[in-house]
Amino acid sequence: MTFKKRQHFKKLLLVELRRHAAHINEEQASALEITNDDVKNSDLALHDVIQELALKLSDNESKMVADIDQALLRMEEGSYGMCVRCGREIDERRLEAVPTARYDAACQAAVEAAKGQTAGPSL
Ligand SMILES: [Zn+2]
Repeated sequence: MTFKKRQHFKKLLLVELRRHAAHINEEQASALEITNDDVKNSDLALHDVIQELALKLSDNESKMVADIDQALLRMEEGSYGMCVRCGREIDERRLEAVPTARYDAACQAAVEAAKGQTAGPSL
């Protein structure tokens, strides 16, 4: 994945993060300073911010925020966009729809089948 693409997906992740941050009160949200184009934030600082945010959210939302955190960490490691199960590249259209995707479509289906879940349409 090119640097430009990574920045693009990072922006998508931050937009998503901001959407969750909007669910805590404004004062807290502005203290966290998560802005759409603030990709200058050091990733370590961002990680702390996300952890703090997750604590303030409901269980369900804090899980989604944790997924964003994981995706940003994978971006740091350079493994973002690769399936954590088989190592293949995840289709970019899938990442556009689900920027936190950990698996490619095939593995997602396999993982869900193993869990015996019928989740929505897999991309
Ligand atoms: Zn896979």
